[in-house]
Amino acid sequence: MDDFPKTEANYAPLTPVQFLRRAAAVHGRKTAIVHGELRRSYAEFGARARALASALRKAGIRRGDRVSVMLPNIPEMLEAHFGVPGAGAVLNAVNTRLDPAAVAFIVSHAESRILIVDREYEAAMRAASEARPDLIVIMVEDDAGGASGSDYERFLETGDPGEDFLDPLDEWDSIALNYTSGTTGDPKGVLYHHRGACLNAFGNAMTFGLSTETSYLWTLPMFHCNGWSYPWAVTAAGGTHVCLRRIEPRKVFDLIAEERVTHLCAAPVVLTMLQHAPASDRRSFVHGPVRIATGGAAPPSAVIDGMERLGFSVTHLYGMTECFGPSTVCVPQEDWADLPLSERAALMARQGVNLVTLAEQTVLDAEDRPVPADGRTLGELCLRGNTVMKGYFRNPKATAETLRGGKLRTGDLAVLHPDGYVEIKDRAKDVIITGGENVSSLEVEEILYRHPAVMEAAVVARPDPKWGETPCAFVTLKPGIENVDAAEVIAFCRGHLAGFKIPRSVVFGDLPKTSTGKIRKYVLRERARELDATAAS
Ligand code: AMP
Repeated sequence: MDDFPKTEANYAPLTPVQFLRRAAAVHGRKTAIVHGELRRSYAEFGARARALASALRKAGIRRGDRVSVMLPNIPEMLEAHFGVPGAGAVLNAVNTRLDPAAVAFIVSHAESRILIVDREYEAAMRAASEARPDLIVIMVEDDAGGASGSDYERFLETGDPGEDFLDPLDEWDSIALNYTSGTTGDPKGVLYHHRGACLNAFGNAMTFGLSTETSYLWTLPMFHCNGWSYPWAVTAAGGTHVCLRRIEPRKVFDLIAEERVTHLCAAPVVLTMLQHAPASDRRSFVHGPVRIATGGAAPPSAVIDGMERLGFSVTHLYGMTECFGPSTVCVPQEDWADLPLSERAALMARQGVNLVTLAEQTVLDAEDRPVPADGRTLGELCLRGNTVMKGYFRNPKATAETLRGGKLRTGDLAVLHPDGYVEIKDRAKDVIITGGENVSSLEVEEILYRHPAVMEAAVVARPDPKWGETPCAFVTLKPGIENVDAAEVIAFCRGHLAGFKIPRSVVFGDLPKTSTGKIRKYVLRERARELDATAAS
């Protein structure tokens, strides 16, 4: 009964490269990419990506070789997401905000053969070339599309756009190698398979309602978890990619209005930036609610609430590099629509349930038992399914540790609510332990964000001789507000939090951020420790 063989007729390895092959055929005349004045159709997008794949093969790239790219959100970066795997190679998209030494480390660790790099990152390119003398460098000159004459354009001319993409031999073949931000020690190289990239693109396209009507604005860096799979997802849907080299609120609002943007993704810090942009930078849009997906860090409910007031409809996603980006989503239930906005925002600030393409999400206690669904018991959020990484490249020890017991250990501490939704309370290393009690930094931040003068807040542990640690708040006030002091912030928290959770110290100023918009809490922890030294001296 079950002895049917897999044949070419009924089995093809899952791969997102196929999406462009199809879109170029089906939506050939449709605008695939907008970049400044430049408009490219799906037929052109397909031809350029095929030329890239062909040129890479002619340059000696073989299956499994790594090709690094260091590019902002410009058309060449979209081409790389199809042309590199379409040559059988593995795409290593490097974070464009890293310092030259980190880039050199990544390109060496990945053993990349080729680096495609934007002129803006010349210093990093030089460091990478020194670290890997055989590296072939292909420079991209981005002048919003009229880029004839660059290395990259000449390289494309060596390829044959009539040559089809290579399909993977097996859907488990590697498609991408993404390095984690490496806040402690060297970054780790997360390997993705074609299967997971294809499935996560489907999961995201469904979750975010992408279609041929979609106009997708590239506010999320494509180097971060391959832009949460959206280079593939938007192409699968046959939507339009609207490129954006650099995030400036005015430009974002202009593009939303002019290109009738329907969808965008961004970290909560970008939402905060849009919300507090001066009125002269904002533009209203009349083409309907713009859907914005946020994640990468916990969005305080005040931020969700603020974006909805501006006319955006917010989707909250959670994920990490190790699981191809977005893996859970806070699915809104029908009856939430009747709730006051602030109550609805509080429900939506939870990380939610598994994407349709993820097998399982669980919260496990220290003995690996599921925690009760009581919204209180803390455990580690663990994921399992087809959109989990293969492992860390050349690092079997870290791979075994992170995937132990058949689960991806996220290192995020969460509770499970009675409705089955998970809510992250902290990163394991960010919890504050004061007098033996655990304080969730996110819970304190959530309250701080409700203070009308607060634009951003982060809470970390400050060493304390009596309590071990106490909560220390770092706060950025809204533009133009100066007359708020620590005592007032502390008094505000007193009205909303148990005594031991109230920050003992409040420091005002800008918050240090990573290139992916996460607040660098370890830097703040150091500052909090130094505060201690100052106070003691
Ligand atoms: P990265 O691998 O750089 O994408 O970082 C993944 C980490 O970001 C996760 O382990 C979480 O700590 C955090 N993160 C991502 N999305 C969310 C979210 N929606 N809420 C809270 N934390 C998040």
